[in-house]
Amino acid sequence: MTKPGEDTPARAGGNAFSSADLVVAGARLRGGTAPVDIAVRGGSITAVEPSTGTGGRDAPPGAQVVDAGGRLVVPGLIESHLHLEKAYLLDRLPYDAVTLDDAITLTALLKKNFTPEDMRARALRVLRGAVAHGVTHVRCHVEVDDTLMSSAMETMTALREEVSKFVTLQIVVFPQDGLTTQRHGRELMRRAVASGADVVGGIPYNDPDKEGHLDFVFELAVEHGLPLDFHIDLSDDPRQRDILDVVERTHQAGLHGRVTAGHVTSLGSVPAPQASEICAAIAEAGIHVVVLPATDVYLNGRHDTQAPRRGLTPVRMLRDAGVNVSLATNNIQNPFTPFGRGNILDSALMLAELCHLGTARDAEYVLDMMTGNPAEALRLPAHAITPGADADLVLFDAADARGVLNDCARPDVVVKHGRIVTAKELPR
Ligand SMILES: [Zn+2]
Repeated sequence: MTKPGEDTPARAGGNAFSSADLVVAGARLRGGTAPVDIAVRGGSITAVEPSTGTGGRDAPPGAQVVDAGGRLVVPGLIESHLHLEKAYLLDRLPYDAVTLDDAITLTALLKKNFTPEDMRARALRVLRGAVAHGVTHVRCHVEVDDTLMSSAMETMTALREEVSKFVTLQIVVFPQDGLTTQRHGRELMRRAVASGADVVGGIPYNDPDKEGHLDFVFELAVEHGLPLDFHIDLSDDPRQRDILDVVERTHQAGLHGRVTAGHVTSLGSVPAPQASEICAAIAEAGIHVVVLPATDVYLNGRHDTQAPRRGLTPVRMLRDAGVNVSLATNNIQNPFTPFGRGNILDSALMLAELCHLGTARDAEYVLDMMTGNPAEALRLPAHAITPGADADLVLFDAADARGVLNDCARPDVVVKHGRIVTAKELPR
C-alpha cells in the first residue's frame, strides 16, 4: 500500500484518479508491456492510463490503493456452469458412480436428504473456493423436481442476495431428473421463472420425451424473454445429436446469441467432416458452448479398451468455426465428478493439456474461455479492463496467461464491485 495524497503527478485523466475510491497502480494488462494505473469509483472503472510509477499517490485520502507491482490484471474469472447444491457429496455415497446413469441415480437418491441449510452450507463452500480463486461471476444450474420441489431454487435465490457483494450469481433453473417424468415438472419450472430464475435450463438427454421437453423450455424462455442454457449430448455416442434440434429451434425462435449448450461431448466422436458441419451450424445459430473437462473426461471414453477417447467436445474445431466456447468446473466432489477443489484453473490446465492448446497464444485463448467468452455467453457487456466497465478484476502474480495456467495459483487480489474482497468475508 502507498500513502495517498502525496507527490501528485500531472495526468490526462487526473480527475478520475483524484476522485477514485480505489486505485490499482502499476498493473500489467494482457499483451501490454508498460504498466498501467486503474482508477475505480462507485463499482466502475473510470480510467486506465500508463502508470506514473508513483504507486497511485494522486488518489484522494481515504481511497484504497493497491500497488500491483507489475502483476497481471484480468477481469474477474467467470464460472459459466456450476452446480452448487450438489457439490461435496462424496462422504454420503452408498457406492461409487462409474457411469452417467449411476451418477444421476445416486444423486437422485441423496437429494431426498437435502435440506435448505445443508444446500446453503455446501453452496457457500463452493463459492468461498470460487472467490478465493478469482471468480466474480457464477452461472449456477439449480434443480427442480418432485423430490426437491422448489427448495433448491428458494435456497439459491436467497443466497444470490446474500453473496452479491462478493460474487454475482446467475440462476439457471433446470429439470435434471427430466421434465415430463416429474408430476410437477412444468409447474415447478414456471414457478422458478416467476420467482427469479435468470435463465431457463433444459436437459433433453434425461427425458424420454425429448421433443416435449424442448418444446416446453423454448416456449417458457420466449414467453419470459429469458436466455436458455442446456445440458446436452453428454456421451461419447456419435449418434447423439440433440444439438441439431436446438440449432433449428434457436433459429425458429429468433434466439441467436441467447442459447448456451453445455457438454456437447458426443460431437467429439462424430467423424470430422460431419462434425465440422455441425460446428458451422452451431456457429450460425450463435449458440455458445461450455466445455466441462473434469466431468466430460471422467464420464466419457471409459468403455474404450484401446486408445480411449478423451470425451470432450472438439474445442479447437468449434473455435475455428467461430463458436464462442467457454470452460467451467460443473461439479465438485460428487458422483458426476469425484474431483476438484473449486479452482477453475485446474479445469483450464486440464483442458489445455487435453486439447493440445500449448502455445502462448493458446494459453491466452484458454484465459479468454474464463473471461471474455463466458462474459459474452452470460451477457455481461461491461466485463473488461477498460473505462466504463465493471470494476470486477483480479491480479495474478504471473507474466501472462501461460504463467496463470501453469501456476494454477490463487490471485493475490480480487476486486468485486470496486472493492477488495476475500473468501473469508463470505457468510458462513
Ligand atoms: Zn452441469
